[in-house]
Amino acid sequence: MRIDLHCHSTASDGTLPPEQLVARAAAAGVDLLALTDHDDLSGLPAARRAAQRAGVAFLDGVEISVTWRERTIHVVGLGIDPQDAALGAGLAALRYGRSRRAERMAAGLAAAGIDGALEGAARYAGNRGLVSRTHFARLLVERGVCRDVRSVFKRYLVEGRPGYVPHRWADLEHAVAWIRGAGGVAVLAHPGRYRYASGALRRLLAEFKAAGGAALEVVSPSHGPAQAARFGALAREFGLLASAGSDFHDPVESVLGPGVRAALPARAEPLWVRMGWV
Ligand code: AMP
Ligand code: MN
Ligand code: MN
Ligand code: MN
Repeated sequence: MRIDLHCHSTASDGTLPPEQLVARAAAAGVDLLALTDHDDLSGLPAARRAAQRAGVAFLDGVEISVTWRERTIHVVGLGIDPQDAALGAGLAALRYGRSRRAERMAAGLAAAGIDGALEGAARYAGNRGLVSRTHFARLLVERGVCRDVRSVFKRYLVEGRPGYVPHRWADLEHAVAWIRGAGGVAVLAHPGRYRYASGALRRLLAEFKAAGGAALEVVSPSHGPAQAARFGALAREFGLLASAGSDFHDPVESVLGPGVRAALPARAEPLWVRMGWV
C-alpha cells in the first residue's frame, strides 16, 4: 500500500495546484492522501474533488507552524473539518503574522543588497496570503543569487543570515486544540528536523502528548532508516501512533513523493490503521 499523510500544493509552498498534486499521487499509486498546506486550508476543496474523481481516499489536512521554547516546530492536523471556525480564525492569525514576517525578511534582504524581494516572492506564491521562505528561495534562484533552494536557505534564510527574522508562531497547546476542536488528529511532524538534544525532544513529546497529540511522523524524507527506527520506538514509549508522509513540495526540489510505502519500523502502530482510514 502507498499512503501520504503530508504534502503541499500551491495553497502554500508547493508548486503543483491541488488537482495536479492529486493526479500525480494517483499516478504514483497512492491509496490514501492528505493535503497538509502550511497554515492554510484553501487547497482542500479542489484536492478533495480531484481525489474523489481519481478514486484516492482523501483526508483534509493542515501543517500548523508552532513556536515551542523559542524554536519553530510543525504540527500536522489530519481529518479536520475545513469549516471549523476556531481553526479558521487561528490560521488566519498565523497568516497575518506570516505577512508581517515577509515584510521584515524583505527588509533584511534589501539591507544585504537584494531589492524587491517581497514583490518577487509574492509572485511565486500561488496564494498571496501565504508567503513562505520557500518563495523567497525560489526567487533568489531565479535571479541567479544561488544555485538551488537549499543553498538559498543556508546563505540567506536561516538564523544568523540576512533574510532571517525571528518570529512567534502558534503555541503548541493552541495548535493541538484547534485541530482536535475541528475533529482532527494532531501529528508532530518530522521530529528529525528539529535537532533537539534527546532530553529536549523527550520534553516536547511529553508536552505534545499531554496537549492531546495523537501521533509522531516516523516516516519522512527528513529521516534515514536509523532515525525512523528511533522515532518509532519513541512513539511507542510516549503512547503516540506512527504517521508517514513525503512532505512533497515539487517534482524537482523534493526527494520523495507524493506517496511513501506504508512500512513502519517494527512495533510502531500506524495511525492510518488505528483510525480506520484504510
Ligand atoms: P516558513 O514556514 O515560511 O518558515 O518556511 C518553511 C519551509 O521552508 C519548510 O516547510 C520547507 O518547505 C522549507 N525549508 C525549510 N528549511 C529548508 C532548507 N534547509 N532547505 C530547503 N527548504 C527548506
Ligand atoms: Mn514547506
Ligand atoms: Mn514542515
Ligand atoms: Mn511540510
